[in-house]
Amino acid sequence: MIPLHDDVALGALRRQLRLDPEPLRQLRNAFYKKRLPAEKALERLPLAQRSAFAEAVAFHTLTVHSRHDSQLDGASKLIFQTAAGKLLESVILRIQTGRTTLCVSSQVGCAVRCGFCATGQMGRALDLGCDEILDQIVQANQLLRAEERGVRNVVFMGMGEPLHNEDAVALAIETIVSPRAFGLAPAHVLVSTVGIPEAMVRFARRFPDVGIALSLHSARQAVREKIIPLARRYPLPVLREAILEATTIQGKPPMIEYLLLAGVNDTDADLQALLGYLGELPAHVNLIPYNAIAGVEFVGTSEGRRNEFAAGLTSAGFRVTIRHSLGRDVAAACGQLVQRQLLVGKGTA
Ligand code: SAH
Ligand code: SF4
Repeated sequence: MIPLHDDVALGALRRQLRLDPEPLRQLRNAFYKKRLPAEKALERLPLAQRSAFAEAVAFHTLTVHSRHDSQLDGASKLIFQTAAGKLLESVILRIQTGRTTLCVSSQVGCAVRCGFCATGQMGRALDLGCDEILDQIVQANQLLRAEERGVRNVVFMGMGEPLHNEDAVALAIETIVSPRAFGLAPAHVLVSTVGIPEAMVRFARRFPDVGIALSLHSARQAVREKIIPLARRYPLPVLREAILEATTIQGKPPMIEYLLLAGVNDTDADLQALLGYLGELPAHVNLIPYNAIAGVEFVGTSEGRRNEFAAGLTSAGFRVTIRHSLGRDVAAACGQLVQRQLLVGKGTA
């Protein structure tokens, strides 16, 4: 089956079926931008070619396994199943301003195994294909159509480390920003990475306008290693070189994500280390309150201390925002995404 986003294969199919480019353009427009279901989008093709086209092209690669709507805020968690039977999660974030953001997964599980992250507890990662990443957006859009909403921002902050599945993520982003497909503005796409220096620089070159967010979480090497095992491989000075290079290429520094863990990375020494590390960078620091994960010993920083930490950064001239995670009641908040059904199957949840 040919994925609908594959221009080359689709061009060959079009010639084989003697299909004009215009109806195909309209079909893709109906499917990706108007958020119509495949049957409706197919009506854009002449009747004679419809069934042959439908048989050759895969419109979906995932099935919706379940949907969980938060009773607290505007989050909906979607659990999808791949053809191989793996479960993954995406989160629809209906932001109060009326914007809609989709948090997508790039892998099932994550090999980085950060101690504070539920996905990390799953260990071994399975890479999602480009079409599996895109179908999360297609299917969320189709659900949102009933609410007269559509995905406007895509953040790669779901399950997995996007830069460990670089090719599929890059291909997916090309389709997300392509005027022939979703047509989102590159600035409305954000990729969060644990910090893989050479991949960050490659990514910045390929997508100078797509946002990069770096999960720094500590500017002290020993502390960072304790909470992010991969930090051993990429010491902080090497990571800083990559930040500088990405900043030069993109004309702005990556967003710095900083998860606040009580007594671990929120002391005065941690703040001083962070200020020293960021130095002259005109960085935007996004402080992340910790979302509790079952079986994990971390405790989130108190609101008072969080505000002090934020004030320390602000007074040094940094732009600071505090992340407001949605969907805690349906385990859809940052770091809470996990293949829950698998755990149930094992009798551990
Ligand atoms: N692998 C990527 C993207 C997915 S995680 C990365 O690590 O950046 C998205 C964000 O959620 C990261 O900043 C991550 O550190 C954060 N996160 C993970 N576990 C969390 C938790 N328990 N509470 C709050 N944020 C968490
Ligand atoms: Fe992987 Fe990101 Fe979770 Fe770390 S925080 S285990 S890199 S998904």
